[in-house]
Amino acid sequence: MDTSATPSDAPGAGRRRPSSSDTALYAPLSPMATGLACRCPRCGGGPLFKGFLETAPGCRACGLDYAFIDAGDGPAVFVIMIVGFIVVGLALVTEIAFQPPIWVHMVLWLPLTLILSLGLLRPFKGVLIAMQYHHKAAEGQLEAGSGAEPPAGPSQGA
Ligand SMILES: [Zn+2]
Repeated sequence: MDTSATPSDAPGAGRRRPSSSDTALYAPLSPMATGLACRCPRCGGGPLFKGFLETAPGCRACGLDYAFIDAGDGPAVFVIMIVGFIVVGLALVTEIAFQPPIWVHMVLWLPLTLILSLGLLRPFKGVLIAMQYHHKAAEGQLEAGSGAEPPAGPSQGA
């Protein structure tokens, strides 16, 4: 029985984080500026998204591979917190000041929640992706070919 399969055959083993030598060719851009504009975090030129929230495979202007992007649930969490704060605050103020019937609340806050959520998702995802690129955030990986034992730490699961 052959059990010589190695973990390096696992899919995603070849994934690379953005190279630190990028700064030699591209001056660092503000993650807020490129993120809010939904532009490439490296050159600020090409579009970041190809759909409403789906990222393009790469930058059309500078060729940056977007495979490193992993915003996860981050944008949704921020949007939930901010929209919740705004809508609940406005609903409380309106209720205390005017005591309107419940249908007024429905008519006001349901559309506002939808508009704010959908409007904020793209720029927030853009900013988080730009910050991930800016800070080179990625999953922890072992250095290939160093030969050294990885330092034992509390995060060493699996
Ligand atoms: Zn680019």
